[in-house]
Amino acid sequence: MNSNLISRITFIAACVVAASGCWTSPKSQSPEGPVNYRNERVDFSNTNVKDLVNSNKAMNSNREDDRSKKEGYAANLPSGFEQPTDDVGRMLLREYGSVFVARGGVTPPAKVVFRDQDEVSGFQSGLKTSKATIGGSRLELQAPAMEALQAAIGQARAKGLDISPRGADSAKRTYDETVGLWKSRVDPALVHWVGKGKLTKADADRIKGMSTFDQVKEVLRLEEQGIYFAKDLSKSIIYSVAPPGTSQHLSLLAFDVKEFDNAEVRRILNENGWFQTVASDLPHFTYLGVKESELSGLGLKRMTSSGRTFWVPDV
Ligand SMILES: [Zn+2]
Repeated sequence: MNSNLISRITFIAACVVAASGCWTSPKSQSPEGPVNYRNERVDFSNTNVKDLVNSNKAMNSNREDDRSKKEGYAANLPSGFEQPTDDVGRMLLREYGSVFVARGGVTPPAKVVFRDQDEVSGFQSGLKTSKATIGGSRLELQAPAMEALQAAIGQARAKGLDISPRGADSAKRTYDETVGLWKSRVDPALVHWVGKGKLTKADADRIKGMSTFDQVKEVLRLEEQGIYFAKDLSKSIIYSVAPPGTSQHLSLLAFDVKEFDNAEVRRILNENGWFQTVASDLPHFTYLGVKESELSGLGLKRMTSSGRTFWVPDV
């Protein structure tokens, strides 16, 4: 492992530990069960940490200008939005932040990271939601998002196309499911490293028994020693999953589409206010509730990756 990589991992670890107040352990763990977490891959591998720090510095120095302009991304955030004050929080805002400027009568969260299941339940219980059975799965979204999705499904059907969920967890998720995603990386990695003799069985048991809060810190400490927890075990877990509490699915404004490879399906979804906003996650669509021509007015910018168009915060 080269020293540059070590310093990057160390930097990320420091950021995460600094921000770890955001991630308290849930009161209960959900069983892993049949929930399909594959759709929720978050890949930070394209994020150059030096660029991130530099852009944060630039963001800070431009803050006065942003305030005076009263436009752009920051001005379109919900009133009372809790701006992240740490590097990881700002990175998460850049990676997932498009959802916070959603329109069309929906309620985006007013913070980047939910602290625990209680906070998620509190947010979700205040929403006007709608349920429907789509592709054999019972799904729940914020009501305007569901209405727009069903309009898109109708338009697709008229052209002989399907728009269906990738799995039962393609729409709403709970906080505990995001903890489950984190565990779906940590637990197999522990088995792997015990098998390689890098950790003892006692170490693995101790780590598994930790709260999510403590486990995040411990996992990142081990990664400083080259014991990695990403799915392929060759890089930081931060490049593989989001920390618990950050998924757009918690907001009931995201939908993972089975037919995401079909350009016409993507066009129909776009026409109905559903856009791709997380560059590393191809099946994942976010309800933004406006026409494509209005997105730049919300402070989002167009980005092309893997031949797809993504709308991300222009920060
Ligand atoms: Zn998704």
